[in-house]
Amino acid sequence: MFERMLDKFSGWFTIDMGIDLGTCNTLVAVRGQGIVLNEPSVVAVRKGTNEVLKNGQAVGMVAKEMLGKTPGSISAVRPLKDGVISDFKITEAMLAYFIHKVNGNSFIRPRVVISIPSGITAVEKRAVYDSAELAGAKRTFLIEEPVAAAIGAGLPFAEATASMIVDIGGGTTEVAVMSLADIAVCESVRVAGDDMDEAIINHMKRTYNLMIGEQTAERVKIEIGSAAPVGEETSMEVRGRDMISGLPRKTVITSEEIREALQEPVGAIIEAVTRTLERCEPELAADLVDNGIVLAGGGALLRGLDVVLKNATGLDCRVADDPLTCVARGTAIFLENIEMWKDTLESDLDL
Ligand code: ADP
Ligand code: MG
Repeated sequence: MFERMLDKFSGWFTIDMGIDLGTCNTLVAVRGQGIVLNEPSVVAVRKGTNEVLKNGQAVGMVAKEMLGKTPGSISAVRPLKDGVISDFKITEAMLAYFIHKVNGNSFIRPRVVISIPSGITAVEKRAVYDSAELAGAKRTFLIEEPVAAAIGAGLPFAEATASMIVDIGGGTTEVAVMSLADIAVCESVRVAGDDMDEAIINHMKRTYNLMIGEQTAERVKIEIGSAAPVGEETSMEVRGRDMISGLPRKTVITSEEIREALQEPVGAIIEAVTRTLERCEPELAADLVDNGIVLAGGGALLRGLDVVLKNATGLDCRVADDPLTCVARGTAIFLENIEMWKDTLESDLDL
């Protein structure tokens, strides 16, 4: 009796949390408050183990700053780097940390909707689900990332017309065609933002014998990277270590050469999109002629990516508003309509 009353009471104050568990960044949106947390999906562990550092600062922003700069005994890891969970324990610690950070010491147990990369296996889904429950969730729902991205981008996801979303994250690119609140065709490839950084690192090695770090490569991509010649060509100075002398050195690089260096990962993304289109039913393909393609995820911000995709497919192509938060906003909208959409998601029952 008392428990029933307590349950009803806490129902009035239920916290609804939408979590975008990304390969690069984790975002949390709370119903009625918008995005309340946005941190890198990084955890600091004791080297060679999966033991998370215990000082309470071992996750997120602080841990990312350690990437590539950690002292001998500590390493910073991205447990979802390739869109698969490399270590359950670390992922669990990360998810618990973020849920607690948002929920504080509240006695109210939140309902959470977690968006997960569509490539992860049933076992991995189960692990994410269990971690959320362990972290205190009252109800947990898992939703495929492209679905959340489509909702966040405002696509007519539940209607009887097809729409296409291409979500380019750090570790994976998710391509999906959706209609009637369901995924008709989808593909998840392990080529995304990280591979662009990698391509820049390789270019610097090959062309200049200069070793640069991942963070520097990412900065180059964001500052002067592009997939097609749009806007003015620019240049920037980069610093690294000379591979021959072993000494620190700097050099100037141009936007043209970086575009050239990015051709391979960009080409792989284009191929994933065209392959998905080829697998599409003719009726759905017909809808896409009108509805076009929407790009989401941080990778969508690469200049000219919409242009190359338009050229390759002949379809209209636009970048969603605020592509980095699209999935998190989608999970929040999902929460607001949970009664209506509950059946389409993977709830605890059919895991
Ligand atoms: P995930 O969902 O996998 O966590 P995100 O959607 O958060 O990934 O996107 C992160 C990726 O987006 C990173 O590879 C990052 O370098 C890239 N990114 C962020 N901003 C830009 C930008 N302006 N131009 C190109 N890439 C960007
Ligand atoms: Mg994402």
